[in-house]
Amino acid sequence: MSILVQKFGGTSVADVEKIKNVANAVIKEKLNGSKVVVVVSAMGHTTDNLVKLAKDITNKPSPREMDMLLSTGEQVSMALLAMALNEAGYKSISLTGLQAGIKTEDCHMCARIVDIDTTNIKKYLNEDNIVIVAGFQGVCRDNEITTLGRGGSDTTAVALACALKAQRCDIYSDVEAVYTADPRVIKTAQKLKTISYDEMLELARVGANVLHPRSVETAKLNNMPMRVRSSFKLDDLGTLIIGVEEMELNKPVTGLACDASQVRIVICDVEDTPGNAARLFTLLAKQNLSVDMIIQSYARKSTNTNDIAFTVTKSDLEKFKSIEDEVNKIINSKNIFIDEDIVKVSIVGAGMIDRPGIAAKMFDTLARENINIKMISTSEIKISCLVEKKYSEAAAVALCKAFELDGAQVADVKGDLPVV
Ligand code: ADP
Ligand code: ASP
Ligand code: MG
Repeated sequence: MSILVQKFGGTSVADVEKIKNVANAVIKEKLNGSKVVVVVSAMGHTTDNLVKLAKDITNKPSPREMDMLLSTGEQVSMALLAMALNEAGYKSISLTGLQAGIKTEDCHMCARIVDIDTTNIKKYLNEDNIVIVAGFQGVCRDNEITTLGRGGSDTTAVALACALKAQRCDIYSDVEAVYTADPRVIKTAQKLKTISYDEMLELARVGANVLHPRSVETAKLNNMPMRVRSSFKLDDLGTLIIGVEEMELNKPVTGLACDASQVRIVICDVEDTPGNAARLFTLLAKQNLSVDMIIQSYARKSTNTNDIAFTVTKSDLEKFKSIEDEVNKIINSKNIFIDEDIVKVSIVGAGMIDRPGIAAKMFDTLARENINIKMISTSEIKISCLVEKKYSEAAAVALCKAFELDGAQVADVKGDLPVV
């Protein structure tokens, strides 16, 4: 009998009525003949509220205690869902990360899953239980509780699906599918019937928070088919995420995302000499500061200096400020400029490979809206532009129009979809 993993996000389990609705979605799959493993997030805004409680006590909570605190959210929803299933007449048991055998690296609040011992889950499945697992948590050495980073329940679900060799992993959310852009911002964004792992991974990394990037990374590595679908429209199959070779590309750009969570740091007048960039980024790496876009300007001959600009997430800004003096010292800079008024707008599409003119069209579209570009970065299937925050929506709307991501032009594949 095949195994199906279903994951339900915070909105889907926000209250008791919604938990009963989730129980029905689970029973539907059970009646279809699958063994079902369910991963749940914390109810509604529980995790945000727990973070707020900690902040009301201290500005510098210990990461270990944060994990002890945040992991409680998922335990409430898993127990309530198991009770709802029991009440409906189905055998069900809830398991914490430890009980589900989820082992992570030794790192609090952003741990990666390194192994899953599925013995316990399989035992309960074989006893005809629907197994509910707390998302977002695992244990490291000495059974210390760890969490996977915000939004990490998606990754729990995909990792479990891979470890259990499930037929598929279904991520149920408050949207019906993956859209060409965030449907809450771009009302005319289109549903995607399919999207490749690579494109979904880029979209998730550049701000489409519908999926935790590591969930897509894990699915890609293991060739695990995923669906994003709605917990409130159970007959809608949503979006299937699969390998690109199964699809025929018909558009250069598949989706767009905006990310307002970054800040730009510009280090001005850095001496143009070998080793400065290495010293700077080594220091940042030592602080665990992860850097996204990087630009070094052309050196000014008169002063033999250039400027180095890069972006980090807002949550890392305090960490950067605490080493600002050290940065000035090691690369002998005098002038550091921090710009928080930015948003990164990105277009993503596997079809842009070897297709010239996509970047030009993006820049031209922004220019026509009179939007100035502060920084640009590209990968094989992505182009990102940093612009002033106030232009976020205007840029997204104009780019969706230019690249046919809105209106009636549904981005779709040709031919039959694979059955998974
Ligand atoms: P959950 O709590 O179920 O994990 P999330 O809030 O993490 O849900 O993700 C769903 C949200 O992702 C949606 O409400 C939507 O606003 C946002 N989103 C951003 N980009 C996209 C996109 N391209 N397609 C669908 N949803 C998107
Ligand atoms: N509850 C966690 C969060 O809000 C994990 C998740 O929902 O995926 O980030
Ligand atoms: Mg989520």
